[in-house]
Amino acid sequence: MIWYPYQQMKTMRTPYEIVDAEGVYLYTKDNKLIDSVSSWWSVIHGYKHPEMNAAILEQVNRFSHVMLGGLTHEPVQRLSQKLEEFLPGDLNYCFFSDSGSVAVEVALKMALQYCMNRGDRRRTMILALEHAYHGDTFKTMEVGDDEDYHFVLRAYGPSQYVVHVPTEIEALEMAFAQYGEKLTCFLVEPLLQGAGGMRMYGSSFLKRARELCNQYGVLLIFDEVATGFGRTGHRFAADLVLPDILVLGKALTGGYIGHAVTVANRKVYEAFYDDAPDHALMHGPTFMGNALACAAALKSIQLFESQDYLSKIRRIEEITQRELADLTDPRIQEVRIMGGCACVEVKDPATLQGWQQFAYQQGVFNRPFLNYMYTMVPYIISEEELTQVLRTMKAWFTNS
Ligand SMILES: *Cc1c(COP(=O)(O)O)cnc(C)c1O
Repeated sequence: MIWYPYQQMKTMRTPYEIVDAEGVYLYTKDNKLIDSVSSWWSVIHGYKHPEMNAAILEQVNRFSHVMLGGLTHEPVQRLSQKLEEFLPGDLNYCFFSDSGSVAVEVALKMALQYCMNRGDRRRTMILALEHAYHGDTFKTMEVGDDEDYHFVLRAYGPSQYVVHVPTEIEALEMAFAQYGEKLTCFLVEPLLQGAGGMRMYGSSFLKRARELCNQYGVLLIFDEVATGFGRTGHRFAADLVLPDILVLGKALTGGYIGHAVTVANRKVYEAFYDDAPDHALMHGPTFMGNALACAAALKSIQLFESQDYLSKIRRIEEITQRELADLTDPRIQEVRIMGGCACVEVKDPATLQGWQQFAYQQGVFNRPFLNYMYTMVPYIISEEELTQVLRTMKAWFTNS
C-alpha cells in the first residue's frame, strides 16, 4: 500500500489517477487537466517533450547509471562543464545528489567543514529565514521554519544551532551583530520562499546579506531548488547577488528524473583541496551524477537557452498580472505575483475547501496548501491555457 506525502491517510481524498501526460496536460481516464503546479514546480518544459524524451532514450541505450565512486562518464562531465559556463561568477564546483533536501544537506555540511578545515571551530551555527523551507530531511527540517514541522521542535526543543530572521535588513544586521562570529553560513531561498507560503521579497535584502557575509566571514548559500531556472523571472537569483554556494534541484532535469546539485565557488572548494585526507568532503549519494538525470539536465538547459525561456516567463507574468488585476474579495489577504509564480493568500484556509475539486471540474489541476492558492505553471503554457487557469481561480471566488 502506498503511504502518500503530507496527508492524513485516514481522511485523505482519493488522489486523481494519471494515465498519460503531454504538454501542460495530465490525463485521467475521463478528464484532461492543465497542470498548474508543474508537478511540484519541476516540469518546466511540460510532459512528454519530444527532445527531452529523445535525450533520455539515447542515454538509456548506452547505460542508465554508473556510480561516481572511482568511475566517471561523459554526461556528468558535460553537465558540470555546462553548469560552469551557465552559472554566474566562479560557481564552478558541482557536487551532484538525488534530491533537493540532500543537496541542501551537502551545502550545510560544506559550510561547516569549510570552517573546520580552516581551523575555525567556533563556527557551528546557521542563520536562516523565518518561514524557510529547505527540505524534509532532519537537518533541513531544523533549518526550516515550516509550520508542518513543529512536531520536531516539540520533540527536541528549539535548536541551539539555528537562528531565524525575517526578510528585513534591520533584523538581519542585528542577527549578524549578535551571532556573526559563530555562523558558518546564511542559508536563504532568495526572492521567493516557496513552501513557506510563496513569500516574495526584494534583492536589496540579498545585497545587504552579501555585504554582511563578507564582513563577518560567513558563507552565503542560496537554495534555488525552487527559484532556479527562471521561476522568479530571473534565470537565477544568483545572477543578481552572487552566493558562495548555490543549490539547484526540481527544474534541473526539467522534472523528468529526480536530481540536484550543490555548486560551490572557488573559495569554498579551496578549503577542501589540499593533502590532508580528512579535509575531503565525505559524502556520496548512491545515485549522484546518474547518467539519465545528467542527459535530461543537459537537454533541459539547452532548451531553456535556445527557446528563450526568459521571455516566455515574462509573458506568463504579464498575462498573470492582467488576469488577476481585478481579483478582489474580502476573503483574500493578498495576491502576489513574481515571474512564473502567482499566489492568492486567503485569510482563512476554509475558503479553499473544495477548490481543488472545483478546479478539476474546470479542467485544471491545482493543489493548495494552508492559506495559499498558487500556480507555478510549465513555461510552455499557451496564453489560452494560462488564462483558463487564472479565470478558474477567479471563478472560485465569484462562485463560492
Ligand atoms: C522542494 C525544495 C527542497 C527539497 O527538494 P526535494 O527534491 O523535495 O528533496 C529544498 N529546498 C527548496 C527551496 C524546495 O522548494
